[in-house]
Amino acid sequence: MTDPLPRQEVLDLAQDVRPWDIIVVGGGCAGLGAAVEASARGYRTLLVEREDFTSGTSSRSTKLVHGGVRYLRQGHISLVMGALRERGRLRRNAPHLVADLPLVIPSYTQWERVYYGVGLKAYDLLAGRKNLGRSRVLGRGATLNRISTLRGEGLRGGVALHDGQFDDARLGWTLARTLFNLGGVALNHAEAVGFIESRGAVRGVRIQDGLTGEEWQARASVVVNAAGPWADEVRAMDEPDAGPGVVISQGAHIVVSSAFLPGNTAILVPSTDDGRVLFAIPWHEHVVIGTTDVGLPAPTRCPRASEEEIDYLIEHAARYLTRPPARSDILSSWAGLRALVRSGSKVATSEISRDHAISSRDISAWPRASR
Ligand SMILES: Cc1cc2nc3c(=O)[nH]c(=O)nc-3n(C[C@H](O)[C@H](O)[C@H](O)COP(=O)(O)OP(=O)(O)OC[C@H]3O[C@@H](n4cnc5c(N)ncnc54)[C@H](O)[C@@H]3O)c2cc1C
Repeated sequence: MTDPLPRQEVLDLAQDVRPWDIIVVGGGCAGLGAAVEASARGYRTLLVEREDFTSGTSSRSTKLVHGGVRYLRQGHISLVMGALRERGRLRRNAPHLVADLPLVIPSYTQWERVYYGVGLKAYDLLAGRKNLGRSRVLGRGATLNRISTLRGEGLRGGVALHDGQFDDARLGWTLARTLFNLGGVALNHAEAVGFIESRGAVRGVRIQDGLTGEEWQARASVVVNAAGPWADEVRAMDEPDAGPGVVISQGAHIVVSSAFLPGNTAILVPSTDDGRVLFAIPWHEHVVIGTTDVGLPAPTRCPRASEEEIDYLIEHAARYLTRPPARSDILSSWAGLRALVRSGSKVATSEISRDHAISSRDISAWPRASR
């Protein structure tokens, strides 16, 4: 892999007056992934990111590469299958960034133990040959052996499963470097501030350098809006009357000492009493506890965990851990914004599908690969 270029050199490349085949707006995992795909297919590709690469949602996740046990529970089979396929691919393509993560679902009723035991067999089957390890129903003793700080009172047992854990920000940066290796260009601190339109179609982007304020125009056959939670803002620069396409939901995490969950096994609660999913996960010799699911009217630039979210996480972790974390035990916290595809009548953000959507107009403009 080549060394990163100095910013001025990247800026010079990004200001090349020749038209691009594709300009991607947004340097999170979706934009970086799209740009790598485009570049690998021979398209001249430019990506612009207004902050730093992955500084949006793509460095603020729970850091799981998972099919989503909760999504299976909600019946989103094709979403789970697709995610399990991606998990296998990521494990193969980036083994230095994706690791196996053993998890246990604690069961405080026999019914839960059977329900998740059967459900996770289906999860194993859906993963097929790319499965990271078979799930197992555990007795009470085996569950406590795996998680010594799990509350034992009323515990009937648990279900052990395997999923993946990844470094989301590093994966994004690796994609950015792969893009350069493929001949593409990615510029950070460069904001798309408007579009160039011709005969009713978008034919380029007005870009502003976040460090100097300098503005320039970059022409392209196709512009990809990969602005995640800010996708509606970017779309409004082209279609001011378009209604909102995404619903914003904030999710927070807190970080505490590994004394609260020693060892390498995570706890997964697929459905708390209010229908959310709760994780306590070993991460770089600490433990991450998350997450919340709070609807917001609009995306903020730098989301932070609210007092209520921190209270929620402490209160729910206390239900499962022998030594519940107190506020003074919190070492840090972060929050990220989910951009959920708006889908009519659904109200609770935890109920909205995590599947993606791609909408496009003027497909005839798609260029032929130029290299
Ligand atoms: C709490 C939480 C937990 C999650 N946990 C997991 C998990 O464990 N595993 C998993 O796989 N997924 C998880 N996700 C989902 C995952 O993080 C997201 O699906 C993913 O990061 C979305 O990436 P993105 O590129 O669409 O958005 P983002 O990463 O937000 O990228 C959008 C980018 O667009 C940029 N931008 C916006 N406007 C402009 C503009 N005008 N010009 C230039 N750039 C612009 C922004 O600065 C931002 O960097 C989680 C999400 C949340 C919120």
